[in-house]
Amino acid sequence: MKAFEWMVGKFSIDMGIDLGTANTLVCIPNEGIVLNEPSVVAVRKGTNEVLLDGDAVGLAAKEMLGKTPGNIQAIRPLKNGVIADFEITEKMLRYFIRKVHNRTFMVRPRVVIAIPSGITAVERRAVINSAERAGARKVYLVAEPMAAGIGAGLPVADPLASMIVDIGGGTTEVAVMSLFGLVHCESIRIAGDEMDEAIVNYMRRNYNLLIGDQTAERIKIAIGSAAPLEKELEMEVAGRDMMIGLPRRTVVSSVEIREALLEPVMSIVGAIRATLEHTPPELAADLVHQGITMAGGGSLLRGVDKVIEQEVQLPVRTAADPLSCVARGTGEFLNQLDVYSRVLDTAEDAA
Ligand code: ADP
Ligand code: MG
Repeated sequence: MKAFEWMVGKFSIDMGIDLGTANTLVCIPNEGIVLNEPSVVAVRKGTNEVLLDGDAVGLAAKEMLGKTPGNIQAIRPLKNGVIADFEITEKMLRYFIRKVHNRTFMVRPRVVIAIPSGITAVERRAVINSAERAGARKVYLVAEPMAAGIGAGLPVADPLASMIVDIGGGTTEVAVMSLFGLVHCESIRIAGDEMDEAIVNYMRRNYNLLIGDQTAERIKIAIGSAAPLEKELEMEVAGRDMMIGLPRRTVVSSVEIREALLEPVMSIVGAIRATLEHTPPELAADLVHQGITMAGGGSLLRGVDKVIEQEVQLPVRTAADPLSCVARGTGEFLNQLDVYSRVLDTAEDAA
């Protein structure tokens, strides 16, 4: 290693970033998760001008979502697992890197970023450029399911199949991995957001009640399920009556919400089936023992593990702290950069 690089290395704290469609997390090796904020940016409508002098990102911006007056727009730049807006994604990434960066005296860090496996070469380049412009010395991209596998402690480096189902906000990623490679991967745009939307539609159809996405998400988290509950739940919901146009509330049950969520849950099962059908027989045989590991916020939906287990007849477990699994994986990746970067086909040199 060159002397200068060695010096720089001494003064930098490397970071792993889970650039999720719903949440961005930053993990510093040996420290853990140091940042966990929604992947949201608030801009002046019709412009790329980030409000609050560039600080309306993350938590500050999420508070504005759905409650923005006409001239403010809250954007989730990665909503569908693809980068809808490069410029805004870059501003968001820069804000998060700087925020972590400023915590301590640091020269340009090495950055590992977990990205949805479905993004294009152009989008990858954009993520790398953004991180470079935000001050990264070297940028490594790792596929999100691979990071999830590492974070969940799966033997992804072994000649043995591991399977990840990561249900995020915008996308569900299903992958079978072996020897550090993705054997097969399906990325579908049906995940947490789609569940929220299904609840909005259900309330409109069955109650003539218009509710917002945030309310739908609260219902999903409070009483949502994929399989019958031992004790069914109910919840009071407020929205706008579509007939009379005035605010109104009603009570919904977990049985009804389960019906609303059936379609997105079955789409996820479909992606798992498709992945298994594309898995070579020797690796498929491994999965009989290895089973499926779930990650992502959507894996917290009550009973979703049970439904998958029944539908595909494989053991299913949920990773510990599924919301931070990918970020912890990127941290672990940094710890073992020597090992991992050699096999990483997506490694890009930012120098
Ligand atoms: P991403 O990786 O795409 O940023 P996350 O893994 O952070 O997504 O998961 C965010 C999604 O998880 C959101 O749609 C959120 O509503 C959902 N979620 C979080 N907690 C729960 C829960 N307890 N039950 C069901 N869904 C949840
Ligand atoms: Mg994710």
